[in-house]
Amino acid sequence: MAAQRLASQGHSVCVIDWRENIGDKLCTGIIGRECMERYSPDLTNVYREASSAVIVAPSGKRFNIAKSQPQAYIVDRVAFVASLAEKAKRAGATYMLGPRVSSVDIGEAGVDASLKTKQGSQVVHGSMVVVASGFASPLVGMVGLADRGQPEAMLGSQAEVEAPNLTETEVYLGNSIAPGSFGWLVPLADSRALVGLVTRQKLNGHMGHFMDGLERSGKIKSVIRKSQTWGVPVKPLSKTYTSRALVVGDAAGLAKPTTGGGIYYALLSGDIAADTAHEAIVGGDFSARSLKSYEKGWKSVLDAELRIGYTARVLYEHLGDGGVESLVEKFASEQIQEDLITSGIFSFDRHSGIIKKAVRHKILGRLFTSVGNGAIPLLATIAGSKKA
Ligand SMILES: Cc1cc2nc3c(=O)[nH]c(=O)nc-3n(C[C@H](O)[C@H](O)[C@H](O)COP(=O)(O)OP(=O)(O)OC[C@H]3O[C@@H](n4cnc5c(N)ncnc54)[C@H](O)[C@@H]3O)c2cc1C
Repeated sequence: MAAQRLASQGHSVCVIDWRENIGDKLCTGIIGRECMERYSPDLTNVYREASSAVIVAPSGKRFNIAKSQPQAYIVDRVAFVASLAEKAKRAGATYMLGPRVSSVDIGEAGVDASLKTKQGSQVVHGSMVVVASGFASPLVGMVGLADRGQPEAMLGSQAEVEAPNLTETEVYLGNSIAPGSFGWLVPLADSRALVGLVTRQKLNGHMGHFMDGLERSGKIKSVIRKSQTWGVPVKPLSKTYTSRALVVGDAAGLAKPTTGGGIYYALLSGDIAADTAHEAIVGGDFSARSLKSYEKGWKSVLDAELRIGYTARVLYEHLGDGGVESLVEKFASEQIQEDLITSGIFSFDRHSGIIKKAVRHKILGRLFTSVGNGAIPLLATIAGSKKA
């Protein structure tokens, strides 16, 4: 997104990615309506629209949650990313696919990225760099923006399977599936589906156990692509800009802490980074002071989401299977469907609105306070957050 926007403005842009099949990283490819409307993937890259989903409670009870309009879109992520790259190329960006960036040096005269290629090594020079290198990327440390210690993260595992009778996305809850979190079964096309889970806890055979259960129940017939695991950030970096460098997307920790969805926030932050970089290039000022507006920009649209989403995740992790079971039952009731799901507050792209309404809700609020004393400061954080 940053490359496409900057190249369209006439700037010289070079994108370096070691993946030759750009976009082919572990991901389910679900985006929300706001993302769809703003970044409109070519409809041939959309497998299906979803206006409902089946929620499977820890007990195995199934609940259908539905809205009249599509809320989410399951996209062919690789094709979507490739189409964005194609647009950037047409606008004049150069793509170097295959080489790995092994170091980034920021100096008075610009930025030098050293690349490891099949033929040897090479240095690419530029006036500034947008670091878009994904989860836990060492490049963040190379530009001097890594926080101390390990980034707070979830681990996600996903496999591609054959699931001939699956017509709707299914979300599985409960500690035996994904402790403090959730698993999914998402239909694509031609009987193919993605099965996965994400959790902040250690994965200890959870994926195998989840898939075995789905095979036993006849939901999945065979495995097409074995499961792989990768991380998802749950908290942003404490600083995402410095002299001559901006950090976007997963590299900056910009993903929804509730679900781990990060495609939209990566696109949004790339977009905002392009505005800041354009100003810097035109003004010839690449100082940290000049690039600070990037962070101000993404914070104005995402900060409340990230803070409330993170607090809600911690609160959810406190619930345990009993709490989750009653949360789902209550959520499926007509009253709560009306108050929260069909009321217009529900958004797949932004969760803070529904979270704030849920903790203040007379029925759901009681459930959260019953978690114990640990919940009080979390509820206060959510209730006290100004912007949502
Ligand atoms: C199992 C799983 C399921 C997910 N499902 C969804 C979902 O359904 N919806 C959603 O919104 N989000 C989902 N996400 C999260 C989503 O995939 C990420 O938030 C999103 O891809 C972040 O985009 P990005 O451009 O910041 O980073 P990435 O997509 O990770 O891209 C980073 C790129 O940098 C390249 N790179 C890294 N280091 C170097 C280097 N040294 N030199 C050269 N190139 C380098 C990589 O090859 C990669 O192509 C999921 C994540 C996981 C793990």
